[in-house]
Amino acid sequence: MVSLPIRRRAAAYGRIISFQHMKTTPFLLATLLLAPGFAASVDEQTRALSRDILKELIEINTTDSSGSTTAAAEAMRVRLLAAGFAPEDVKLLGPNERKGNLVVRFRSARPGGPKPILIIAHLDVVEARRADWTTDPFRLVEQDGYFYGRGTQDMKGADAIMVTTLIRFARERYRPDRDIILALTADEEGGTFNGVDWLLKHHRDLVDADFALNPDSGGVTTERGRPLDVEVESTEKLYADFELKATNPGGHSSLPVPDNAIYHVADALARLERSPFPFELNAVTREYFGSLAKVESPENAADMRAMLAEPPDQAAIGRLQRVAQFNALVRTTCVATRLDAGHANNALPQSARATVNCRILPGHSAEEVRLELVRIAADPPVSVSYINEATGERLGSAPLGKSFPPVAPRADVLAPLERLAGQYWHGAPVVPDMETGASDSKYTIAAGIPSFGFSALAIDRDDVRAHGKDERLRVSSYYDGVDFYYHYLKALTGSAAH
Ligand SMILES: [Zn+2]
Repeated sequence: MVSLPIRRRAAAYGRIISFQHMKTTPFLLATLLLAPGFAASVDEQTRALSRDILKELIEINTTDSSGSTTAAAEAMRVRLLAAGFAPEDVKLLGPNERKGNLVVRFRSARPGGPKPILIIAHLDVVEARRADWTTDPFRLVEQDGYFYGRGTQDMKGADAIMVTTLIRFARERYRPDRDIILALTADEEGGTFNGVDWLLKHHRDLVDADFALNPDSGGVTTERGRPLDVEVESTEKLYADFELKATNPGGHSSLPVPDNAIYHVADALARLERSPFPFELNAVTREYFGSLAKVESPENAADMRAMLAEPPDQAAIGRLQRVAQFNALVRTTCVATRLDAGHANNALPQSARATVNCRILPGHSAEEVRLELVRIAADPPVSVSYINEATGERLGSAPLGKSFPPVAPRADVLAPLERLAGQYWHGAPVVPDMETGASDSKYTIAAGIPSFGFSALAIDRDDVRAHGKDERLRVSSYYDGVDFYYHYLKALTGSAAH
């Protein structure tokens, strides 16, 4: 995940979900408070295999500064070939030596069946310094019921789950009704060689699919191991940065004039703050609020239902949007994130610049938002340019591309997930969600491949350590994920798992 992990957002509304409103008998309460670890029924051999793969991945440095995703991709390639995959079905490809991607195809028994399922999972991790950590971030350490290491949460845990699952399928000669493609990729966290983008541009045939699963987002939010909800990312907002800029001749600060670059930009930002983008729901956020209303406090539930009504209740929207998470789900947001102005304490500013970061609802383009910012910043004129994410270049216009308008989550993807979630994370509702940050699904969605995010990892809402120090994953949560994906992929590919 690049920006805001989904579970951190869960923490934001966690205060609002009030389980104390649910009528619980003492017995049920005792069951709920009983600790973590729900289903993990994986056999010893599978546990050992999945642990070995996780250890190998964690211990290969895949950071942008000094690591290599090629090394990790090659290690997985060796394992898959040993498990019986044909060399032509395990391809290591990339734009250069250090940014390799692995594309694995597990073949169907029925050529001409449904289009493949694509699973995308990034191999790279965020930087981690030994001095900052309690343990070595590039060693897998098992301690107190947790696996510690950079990438345990984001997302070598899920990478290892996927490789383990394909190796199990190969060993038991499982024959799915459609191909399963796994793409292990570079540069999701940073760097300029994003593997999903590169594969779609250069090897579309290798990764073309009916839909994609991206275990980099979604997942199970828990509290001390107790599941609260099961989130499936079904669409995401579009990321865009803009620069608001004013320039002046400047001059001696003892002789101020009204035409002042700092005041012009500050005025434009103040107007931006008072000009929220319009309220708008889509198929996914409607479903999300509808599901959430079932477990919310009576007040919030009533507001959510009133917001979903036609026409939506404005007072209810007003109350709900005080929660940053809810506000971000119902509109495009643009917020000032940086300021840079002036050149001396005793001089009038010759220029002032502000960076405004926008998260754009599906169905709208960055250029549409830029034109709205131009309107907001119009008087006196402050220029609005689009900042190219890769190069930092300031451009007079923004891309016209829109995120695909979300469709209601597909029943063929959700139904088996719901059934299995009932077994692994009893009672926690499955909630389709819109990512307010961004993941590699932005590339698959933009390429017209419907994409769903579900990690199958249960993480306590106050234990989100992705990108941070002492990143860790509960051991039982990992093995539950191993077990879950084995059954889920079977259910998706036409075989009853039980
Ligand atoms: Zn990630």
